[in-house]
Amino acid sequence: VISVPLGYFCGLGNASKNGVLIKGSAFIDTMAGIDTAVFDKTGTLTLGTLTVESVDIQGAFAKGEILSLAAAAERHSTHPIAKAICSAAGDDILEPVSVQEIAGTGVEAVLADGRTVRVGRPQSEAGDATAVQVWIDGCSAGIILLADVINPAAKDALRQLKDGGVAQTVILTGDNARAAERVKTAVGADVVYAGLMPEDKYEKIEALCKSGKKLMYVGDGINDAPALARADVGVAIGVLGSDAAVETADAVLMDSDLTRLAYGVRLARKTIGVVRGNIVFALGTKLLVLALAALNLVGMWGAVLADVG
Ligand code: ADP
Ligand code: MG
Repeated sequence: VISVPLGYFCGLGNASKNGVLIKGSAFIDTMAGIDTAVFDKTGTLTLGTLTVESVDIQGAFAKGEILSLAAAAERHSTHPIAKAICSAAGDDILEPVSVQEIAGTGVEAVLADGRTVRVGRPQSEAGDATAVQVWIDGCSAGIILLADVINPAAKDALRQLKDGGVAQTVILTGDNARAAERVKTAVGADVVYAGLMPEDKYEKIEALCKSGKKLMYVGDGINDAPALARADVGVAIGVLGSDAAVETADAVLMDSDLTRLAYGVRLARKTIGVVRGNIVFALGTKLLVLALAALNLVGMWGAVLADVG
């Protein structure tokens, strides 16, 4: 017989040895009861290391100019899209005079020559690729099309979660519907909600929680920290995730291997099983000895042993 705290302690220890850092035993309880797993798309179900595929020119600017002006606006953003644009633009990226980033929408910057550059959600959906539009001084200059790689562990992870008793898998994303649908098919998720603003992600999570679902939310924390905080268990992806996400989250995955999630849920269920088993065993022994003592079949030392042993 091991004690209840020790049971949890072993659970936490085993989890962290396998790359799932759980912040306390309370989350083992919640994790064991999860029935719905919700995922952010970019940087979670995809690797989030995007690359610029092509630029559709819409105005007087050439491809290289569009990329370097967009990169100037994006250079201080931590969004995966921003990183892709900056690495496509090369080494000498202009330093903007001022920048404003609107979460889930894009960035707007003023450059030293007085031009304003805005990079963000396209006005209209084009294809099934992730795309951002670039405006220079208010006029559309073009659309940058980006490619992302599906997380190789995602499909297995979702299947393992379902095998482990999670009834539903859901994707939430700010990206366009067709890009989202493509990822849904690739990873085998049940439901996808696309085109969401960060507050819409939060509201979806809240609606699911209120409908009685026990929710795990997995995200990188970029534009989804509120959702991460609201879910019953918020899981952040450690390496890619922002520091804020790692702090807000209830559990952290050490890398992008999402199958660790299924491991975590299985382990939580097993830990709860062991802890419950121990409680039942301990109380059972005491009741038995109590009954025997009442019948005068055990003496004082037997009772003491049953109580502390
Ligand atoms: P997700 O992580 O689900 O893809 P986000 O909320 O991070 O969603 O972003 C949603 C959309 O907002 C992106 O697809 C993009 O169009 C736009 N966006 C967000 N941040 C930026 C940025 N820094 N630069 C350009 N576009 C951005
Ligand atoms: Mg994201």
